[in-house]
Amino acid sequence: MRFYEPGKPIEEVARELGFDCLDDIIKVASNENALGPSPLALKAIKNSAKNMHRYPDGDAYYLKRALAEKLDVTPSQILPVNGSNEAIVLLAHVFLGPGKGIIMADRAFVVYKLIALSYQSNVTAVVMKDFTHDLDAMLEAITDETRIIFICNPNNPTSTMVDSKAIDRFMKNVPDNVIVCFDEAYIELMPVEKQPDTLKYVRDNNKNVVILRTFSKSYGLAGLRIGYAIAHEDCINLLNRVRQPFNVNAMAMSAAVAALDDDKYVERTRKLVSRGIVYMTAQLKEMGLDYVPPSANFILVKTGKGREVFSALQKEGVIVRPMDIYGLPDYVRITIGTSSENKKTINAMKSVLHK
Ligand SMILES: *Cc1c(COP(=O)(O)O)cnc(C)c1O
Repeated sequence: MRFYEPGKPIEEVARELGFDCLDDIIKVASNENALGPSPLALKAIKNSAKNMHRYPDGDAYYLKRALAEKLDVTPSQILPVNGSNEAIVLLAHVFLGPGKGIIMADRAFVVYKLIALSYQSNVTAVVMKDFTHDLDAMLEAITDETRIIFICNPNNPTSTMVDSKAIDRFMKNVPDNVIVCFDEAYIELMPVEKQPDTLKYVRDNNKNVVILRTFSKSYGLAGLRIGYAIAHEDCINLLNRVRQPFNVNAMAMSAAVAALDDDKYVERTRKLVSRGIVYMTAQLKEMGLDYVPPSANFILVKTGKGREVFSALQKEGVIVRPMDIYGLPDYVRITIGTSSENKKTINAMKSVLHK
């Protein structure tokens, strides 16, 4: 597998299957925020549109300051990027190459592997335990060539997490010449008291921790492409050297600054997700389907013949994600949507699986 296969856009499915009305199709395939963008972000986007003849601020002054304040780190410890995917590429550009390698979990975000391979680096995929990162086994997998260990937390596509205690034990034993990259794309969706604290490593000036976060999920801005890395100033400086001068666009920065202030929206999102999890898991249980208990806004469900179920659900106007590329041919991944989207998904599954 050489290319990332993204969730199918609604328009594409409509074209392929001859749906007349886009409203007849729901997309629960890419873990997007079902509430739509943060209203404060929308307003900021409109306001910034009139300045689109200007280049953006290449130093992202306001965004870095707003993030630093929110996260209690310094602006010099932050690098805004064009979606956190860009940060993975920058890390690879700086730290990877032939004879170097990454360690990741075998059922973690496939993008780490694709990018590492594109830099001719070696990929060690450590077998997960109960669909969860096995941090001890990942420590044991470290060799002289290891440059980056990726920990996706909560993990896509399993929706499992490792807690602060497990992370602390892991960090005590990682050599300090190996970068530990925590991909926290979904972290804000968890109840605040359950969110593992990795920022403390950056506050403590730890040199080998990189945290990736994004506005794509909890802030509903996936289409704008904006995320950020948090790390020691020296590491941020290295990443800064290889990025494009204007890697983050002006509209995205305005929207992100506004979204950071929209605590109400994030709170509503969390509620939508926790209620959705209760509904979906109860329904799946009733249908007798196995699933992995979720920590983020998506659920890995064992339907059998995932690719076929994916195609059949598409015909019912429900786009989910097949999981064969993760070595899970019997599973699909379903994003938690609005309550009506969740109902439509469950109804479609009932009709497809009972055929
Ligand atoms: C969605 C997701 C991201 C976000 O990527 P962006 O480029 O910021 O949109 C990053 N990591 C994981 C594991 C994800 O699922």
